[in-house]
Amino acid sequence: MRWYSIETHAHTFHSDGKLSVQQLLDLGERQKLDVISITDHNTDSALDEVSSAQRNPMVLRGMEWTTYYGHVIVLAAQDFIEFRDLTPVNLDSHIQSVHGAKGIVFAAHPCDPGEPFCTGCHWDFHLNSPGLLDGIEIWHEDHPYRSLWNKKAEELWISLLNQGCHLIPVSSSDWHDAFSPDTPYGINYFYLDESLPLSDAFHDAAASGRSFITMGPLIDLSIQQNGNTFSIGDSVPAGRSLLSLSLHKGNRQDVWNAYELHPDMIEIHYNQQVIAIPFEQYDKTIQMNLNLAKGYVYVKIMGTIQKEYASLLVTAPCYVI
Ligand SMILES: [Zn+2]
Ligand SMILES: [Zn+2]
Repeated sequence: MRWYSIETHAHTFHSDGKLSVQQLLDLGERQKLDVISITDHNTDSALDEVSSAQRNPMVLRGMEWTTYYGHVIVLAAQDFIEFRDLTPVNLDSHIQSVHGAKGIVFAAHPCDPGEPFCTGCHWDFHLNSPGLLDGIEIWHEDHPYRSLWNKKAEELWISLLNQGCHLIPVSSSDWHDAFSPDTPYGINYFYLDESLPLSDAFHDAAASGRSFITMGPLIDLSIQQNGNTFSIGDSVPAGRSLLSLSLHKGNRQDVWNAYELHPDMIEIHYNQQVIAIPFEQYDKTIQMNLNLAKGYVYVKIMGTIQKEYASLLVTAPCYVI
């Protein structure tokens, strides 16, 4: 098992992107991605151009269902799932169909403005069970910390956690064209079982919530309790626990060096409280005793990018049961 850097949302000229499949894969290699999902609008025809020998980055099957009521990222599904009959009120059953095909569903940029800027970009689906979603894009496009729409998407994610839903925060570049290497983009990390085929490994990691989003650094996070160790995505019994975490630079450091990224504060979000600890240095383990009550706990790192104050990393939650 190891952490994989994964872009879950990108386009080619199989829909409205400006890049060929090979140009997008070259971009992914420059960004030192392990995996990229090509999510063209309502088509996966780009896959026909991907060689089965493709290694850097590996390609994960995906599609962006694009409707007048919102956009939906569907990844790793092992069958074609009908989406052309989507309406604002029947997404629940379509998500269940994706899950039946071992696929994963993320809400794409749910709080972006719709008409007159981008018809259908706003999320107008009504879900009877919002917890069916596996994740929500809370970072979208470049400089994700600048966007009011991303802040609203993060608030939506937290409100769903407060309702007891289990779902992960997702970063999406939504690349349509080339960009300069010093343009800051976030990235997802998922903890994959390398012994499985990529789509199965991704499905299991996303469905289990083993993920975090970051502008660059990696995080190790564990919760120890009565001799047991829990990690991101796990369900942890309520009670006295020791939370440990450390930040690492990882093997994409030369990509995010251009962002002038400096961590400043570690925030532990525990139900609706926040415990803030100043960041000191990479590779140093910080420990904290917590008396966990039913709910969730996740970690967020704040700091600066190119001198702007920004959210640098957000983990998926551990759920306290
Ligand atoms: Zn979209
Ligand atoms: Zn898109």
